[in-house]
Amino acid sequence: MIKDLIQSAIDEESKPYWDGLKEGKLFIQYCGGCHQSIFYPRSICPHCFSEEISWQESSGTGKIYSFTIVHQAFGPFKGDTPFVIGIIELDEGVRMMTRIIGDKEEIAIDKRVSVVFSMVESDLVLPYFEVV
Ligand SMILES: [Zn+2]
Repeated sequence: MIKDLIQSAIDEESKPYWDGLKEGKLFIQYCGGCHQSIFYPRSICPHCFSEEISWQESSGTGKIYSFTIVHQAFGPFKGDTPFVIGIIELDEGVRMMTRIIGDKEEIAIDKRVSVVFSMVESDLVLPYFEVV
């Protein structure tokens, strides 16, 4: 189950992120010290080491930084192949690894994408992206 896999990754620092997904919101962190966005969630800014970190809702839009087509997968994603895994650069400047859904022919570096909240299991929503 994907949920079991992810459950172990949810901690106090990332809980607002996971809770936001269930409400159809993509939250990323913002540093009040150096005014940069942060992803993945953490308690100290990776840019300036400030602890002045808050949560902000992301625009959910960005572009494809890189991607690959997965033909062989293991574990809970085994039955989903072929699928596309990509690194999305959000308009807030942070990059996140995620799945890119939709027509594979449309997927290319620098293409604009938008978040899609995908309920992959009951009570588990993941942020996937699709070309807009
Ligand atoms: Zn900072």
